[in-house]
Amino acid sequence: MEQARALVEAHALDREISAVDAPDAWYLKRGLTPRGVQRALEGMSIVRARRKGKQLLLDTRAGAANGRRPGIPAGSERNRDLGPVLGLHLGMSGRVLIDGEAAGDPLVYASNREVNAWHRFTLRFADGGALAMRDPRRLGAVELDPDEDRLGVDALELTLGHLRALLVRSRAPVKAFLMDQSRIAGLGNLLCDEILWRAGIVPARAAMSLGAAEQVALHRSIRTTLRTLGSRGGSHTGDLMVARVPGGHCPRDGAPLVRSTVGGRTTYWCPVHQT
Ligand SMILES: [Zn+2]
Repeated sequence: MEQARALVEAHALDREISAVDAPDAWYLKRGLTPRGVQRALEGMSIVRARRKGKQLLLDTRAGAANGRRPGIPAGSERNRDLGPVLGLHLGMSGRVLIDGEAAGDPLVYASNREVNAWHRFTLRFADGGALAMRDPRRLGAVELDPDEDRLGVDALELTLGHLRALLVRSRAPVKAFLMDQSRIAGLGNLLCDEILWRAGIVPARAAMSLGAAEQVALHRSIRTTLRTLGSRGGSHTGDLMVARVPGGHCPRDGAPLVRSTVGGRTTYWCPVHQT
């Protein structure tokens, strides 16, 4: 996701949007229509790319860089020219392509094959290039002016103090707690199993039941798991992944793993070292 944000910042800013292709109406959320998104974005350009959890937030304003009045700082004219915020959810398999170059979430599994039918949403620039969202599994989404307060703190920016404050208030199973995007944004099912397996914590335990040392272990595990799996190439590259099958054994101590359902999702955990 950070790669997609950086790609937009590097290659898509200040390019005037001349057309919007939204061939898949199902991909547009919260009442947005193909005609509505065209009307809102045509003539705008992207001025900033932000990220919140799994969502990419693109700030827009009217016109392109060469149409701006010189010498006026970007902040001082924002009220007059500010456009809508374009929210892109890349989902499990979505990638952003700019002029054919791709970047997706390093923590997801995505095919590298290029199929135009997978282009769910495309911004065409006046200079001839394009920003496309390619999503084989069609799990992403596009919306305008998303409610940013609805999203919790990004998992990589979560401090120990903030995590502790959230944990002590929640009776939810700790795995469901971690997956709730309104508290912490960016953690999916496989990542949460890996995080809790590394931290030695049973996924079904109430979040508020964690002791001080367990809170520290959980915080450390969130960071190291995201960094390690991010550098390996995705949430499917965890150490627990090979054992996430019926009859699988814990890669750490060899114990038969338990398969259960926590927060509505299939969960694998070790009954020996996770307590
Ligand atoms: Zn174990």
